Amino acid sequence: MVSKDVAILNSTIDVLSPSIHVQAAATTPWDIVIVGAGPAGTAAASRAATNQLRVLFIDRCPLPRPKVCGCCLSPLALAELADLSKSTTSPFKASTLLLTGLTIVSHGHRASVPYATGGVLSRINLDTGLAKNAIAANAAWLPDTRALSCQVDDDNVTLTVQTSTQSQHTIRTKRLLMAAGLYDAIRIHGNTESHRPTRNRPPNNRIGLGTTLPATSGAIAERHLVMAVGNGGYCGFVRLEDDSIDVAAAVHPSLLQQSATPADALTRLLTEAFQDTECPIDTSLLPHSTLRATPQLTHHTGNVDSQDTRIFRVGDAVGYVEPFTGEGIGWALLSARLATEALIDGKGRLRPSKEASQQYQRTYQHALNQHHRRCRMVSLALRSPFLVTTAVRAACRFPTVAGSIARKITGNS
Ligand SMILES: Cc1cc2nc3c(=O)[nH]c(=O)nc-3n(C[C@H](O)[C@H](O)[C@H](O)COP(=O)(O)OP(=O)(O)OC[C@H]3O[C@@H](n4cnc5c(N)ncnc54)[C@H](O)[C@@H]3O)c2cc1C
Repeated sequence: MVSKDVAILNSTIDVLSPSIHVQAAATTPWDIVIVGAGPAGTAAASRAATNQLRVLFIDRCPLPRPKVCGCCLSPLALAELADLSKSTTSPFKASTLLLTGLTIVSHGHRASVPYATGGVLSRINLDTGLAKNAIAANAAWLPDTRALSCQVDDDNVTLTVQTSTQSQHTIRTKRLLMAAGLYDAIRIHGNTESHRPTRNRPPNNRIGLGTTLPATSGAIAERHLVMAVGNGGYCGFVRLEDDSIDVAAAVHPSLLQQSATPADALTRLLTEAFQDTECPIDTSLLPHSTLRATPQLTHHTGNVDSQDTRIFRVGDAVGYVEPFTGEGIGWALLSARLATEALIDGKGRLRPSKEASQQYQRTYQHALNQHHRRCRMVSLALRSPFLVTTAVRAACRFPTVAGSIARKITGNS
């Protein structure tokens, strides 16, 4: 499944080979081990390894791998990528397409507004590029390796991992960074008790669905984002750098329950949004595409483990608000910077864990909580068909004003 998607999207990207064998990883005393090679984990690996620490990052998947994502880079994400290039030993190399316009469609009403804000980059190129960056900075890379659980004692955090051939190993580290996205749920065993991170989730939490369609499957203009909103959720389309079309949706669980398949749910959502107007993609292709789903999207978990201050979380693993405003990658990159700035002092040494955890909690709250609050408001507003339709009608009449309001709503003004 992975290789098929990679072939559709970009046949020139090779699988990123491991830079260490699992047996060697199991006998090395690591300073920092990072679980997850999305934007949060790879950015943290680059920053930490640039400080001459012994850093390992692992992922249960190989890279490149497909990912349910709208692939839009917010101005925050672009700024963090630029900072990463400046601050680490090897610059991040991948050119993004810059967005110029946004079309919103809801219940048959459609508005196109100027939206010269942010860029577009496939997750195959983004995540693989960031991982290459981390390897060049001297972080060790171990793909196809799943974190199962972790044991903490006074000296170390010991991670139990399983390879794709089912062999299990333990890896010792001074600090553990969980960057496993919405999937982070590994059990942490202490001397006397064990726990899983507590995830606070709202009721009726939406679920992500996504796929990549071939270039010829729709009429989506380059550098233009199309968002379709219906009662059961919303779906975004954007053309990627190789011309294929990225499809990413957040759907209400009841829509999935009422539909025979996820493709059927997506088709119903698009039919409701576009009504008699023309849908820009050929929905008959959806049942034949590899549609992927995510766990429930919105949650809050906390950026430092409740029992052990040596275990930090970054990116979606800390908390996420459903993706209408397309900001998760920026948040992931920013949290990776804040976590590594807290973990490592100005001389490139690990800070005492209590001091580091207090700094990370403080800076994270200051930098990110307001973004999460704004996105929660947007996601509530999107649940009102009246509000959405009124906004789209108003945007039709005043596209320039609507463009600047859209930038404010998405935190990009
Ligand atoms: C429908 C949808 C559309 C979106 N659109 C956008 C958008 O346009 N712009 C934007 O900025 N954001 C968007 N997002 C959000 C964005 O995808 C996430 O915020 C971002 O991927 C978070 O990065 P991360 O590194 O925290 O986690 P992830 O990218 O999810 O990476 C986590 C990694 O951890 C690995 N992993 C998980 N469990 C384990 C384990 N036990 N052991 C080892 N490895 C493990 C996974 O394989 C994965 O590679 C969207 C999300 C959805 C669902």
